[in-house]
Amino acid sequence: MSRLPVVAVVGAPNVGKSSLVNRIMRRRGAVVSERPGTTRDRAYNRAEWAGREFTLVDTGGMEPRAKVGLEALVTLQARVAVEEADVVLHLTDARLGVTEADAVIARELRRARGQAVLAVNKLDNPADDMERHGFYSLGEGEPHAISALHGLGVGDLLDVVVSLLPPSDQDAEEELPRLAIVGRPNVGKSTLLNRLLGKDRAVVSETAGTTTDAVAAEIALELEGETERYLLLDTAGVSKGARRARGVPYYSSLRTSEAIRRSDVSLLLLDATDGIVAGDLRIAREIEDAGSSCGVVVNKRDLVPPDLLREIEGLILARLTDLKPQSVRVSALTGAGVDQVLPLAARVGRAYRLRVPTHEVAEFVGDTVARSAPPRGVKIRYATQTGTTPPRFTLFANRPQDLPESYLRYIENALRQEYGLWGVSVRIRVKSSR
Ligand code: GDP
Repeated sequence: MSRLPVVAVVGAPNVGKSSLVNRIMRRRGAVVSERPGTTRDRAYNRAEWAGREFTLVDTGGMEPRAKVGLEALVTLQARVAVEEADVVLHLTDARLGVTEADAVIARELRRARGQAVLAVNKLDNPADDMERHGFYSLGEGEPHAISALHGLGVGDLLDVVVSLLPPSDQDAEEELPRLAIVGRPNVGKSTLLNRLLGKDRAVVSETAGTTTDAVAAEIALELEGETERYLLLDTAGVSKGARRARGVPYYSSLRTSEAIRRSDVSLLLLDATDGIVAGDLRIAREIEDAGSSCGVVVNKRDLVPPDLLREIEGLILARLTDLKPQSVRVSALTGAGVDQVLPLAARVGRAYRLRVPTHEVAEFVGDTVARSAPPRGVKIRYATQTGTTPPRFTLFANRPQDLPESYLRYIENALRQEYGLWGVSVRIRVKSSR
C-alpha cells in the first residue's frame, strides 16, 4: 500500500515547533463531525495542504527522557528527521537570531536525502523582515518568514513544502503490507518471532523496501482459503544491525514507534506476568494515534492463571476503545496458542483494507437506521465508504449537527459487527445532504 510522504519539523527547543504543527493541523479541510479521541497533540499527525496529504512529524515530541545536552538533542532530532522525512522543515527563532543549535541542525540536514526548507518564526510584524536575512548564513536557501502564533506566512510556507513532496504514486500499491510485533523489552518479541518463523530461520533477509525497515521475513497468511503476503518487521532486533542497539531503551522505543507507523498491522505483545504497565499503554496509544490497526497478544500464559489473563485483556481493551481489537493468549516459550497469532493478524489486515461496495453500505446503514431511528427530525439519507486503511464512512444527513455522538456510535458498532471491523478505527463523518 502507498505511504504518505513525511514532513518533519526540527528546531531548537522553544522556537515554536508545536505551535507551527498545531497551526497546520487546524487548517485541515472542513470536517463536519469526526469521532473524537484521536488526539492531535502527538508527534505524528496526518496533515493536508493543497490537496496533498502528508504525515507531519513534530520532533519536539520525541525528546528522550534522559537529560542530554542541547547539541545532542537537536542532532538526534535532525537525524531522525533526515532518516524518514521527504521534507525537513527547519524552524528557527527570529528573536534569537542564528544559534549554535541552528548551525548543528543545518550541518545534519546537508546529509538529508529529502529536501530542507528553512523557516524563521516569530516574525509577527512584517516590518521586522530584516531579521530574516541573517538566516541566509545557514546555507539552507531562502529563509521563509512566518508567525506560527498568528498564522502569518504559514500558507506560503506550506506551498513550498508541498511543492517539494515526491509525486504521489498510486503504483506504490504494489508494496506488500507490513506486520509488526510490538511491545516493551522482554515481553517476548524475539521468542515469538522465532517461534513463528521456526527457530533456525529467524532472519530471512536483513532489509527490504525502505532503508529503515529491518524485515524478519516475508510471510504468507491464510484466511478462509485466501493467501495474503506480508512483510514481518524485525521489531525485536534479531537482525545484526538492530542487535547492536538492542537494550538501549531510547532506540528500542524509537524502533517501536517507527514500526508502528510503517506497519499496516501492529500486534501488541503483552507480558502477562507484568499485568498492564505504563509502557504498554504508551505503545497502545501510539498504535491508536498512528492510524494503524492492531491485535492484542497476551504472552507468557504458561505463568499466569486464566482469570488474571482475562483481567489483563479487559484492561488493555478498555484503553483501546478507538480500535476495539481482539486478543489471543499465547506462550511463545512453549508454543501454546501461537497458531492463533497469524490468523489474528490476517483478520485485522483484512478489516483494515476493507472495501465495501457503495450500494451495500447504503443498504446496510439504511437497515440499521430503520431498526433504530435517529432523533426526531434528523434524516440520514445516504451512506458510503469514503476511505480505507482504516475504513472511513460518510453519512449524509439533513441536519448533521443534530446527530448525537451516541447515534454515530450505534452505526459504528453495527458496521463493526457486520464487517468484522475489530482492531481498526472506524471513522464516520456526517455531511449535510443539502
Ligand atoms: P523481547 O525483548 O520482547 O524480544 O523479549 P525476549 O523474546 O527476549 O524474551 C524475554 C524473556 O522472556 C526471555 O527470557 C524469554 O525466554 C522469556 N519468555 C518469552 N516468552 C515467554 C513465555 O511465553 N513464557 C515464559 N515463561 N517465558 C517467556
